[in-house]
Amino acid sequence: MTSLTGRCMCGAVTWTYAGEITRNLVCHCADCQRATSSPFTAFLGMRPEHLTWTGDIRHYESSPDTLRGFCPSCGSRLYFRSGKWPAEIHVHAATMTDPADYRPDAQVVMRSRAKWLDRLPSIPAHDGFQQKPSGGAPA
Ligand SMILES: [Zn+2]
Ligand SMILES: [Zn+2]
Repeated sequence: MTSLTGRCMCGAVTWTYAGEITRNLVCHCADCQRATSSPFTAFLGMRPEHLTWTGDIRHYESSPDTLRGFCPSCGSRLYFRSGKWPAEIHVHAATMTDPADYRPDAQVVMRSRAKWLDRLPSIPAHDGFQQKPSGGAPA
């Protein structure tokens, strides 16, 4: 059994979990890209009956019987839930109190993985924010 906690960006929503982690997956699907405004997202699969939320949560029905929860104060994405997997709720791993503990073990929907991710290891990297724009058109 695993005990984990998490929160949204503003802290208005928190979660506590004590149970089995059913999945540690990175999702490259187009809906997750749009929903999170990011090239991919990472989830922890949890048993809904062992997960406790505090705070006000809204959700968006991104497709029939598929709910994506978020904090109405700061907009942080919180979870994905689908009627296809009624015994699981997929909590966004980035909301973990200590996201450094996250260990994904699978990537899914590789067909829509952002192509530019392949270039990441070969482009300039900075410890902080980039001081000057690099210019040029996006590749
Ligand atoms: Zn919030
Ligand atoms: Zn997805």
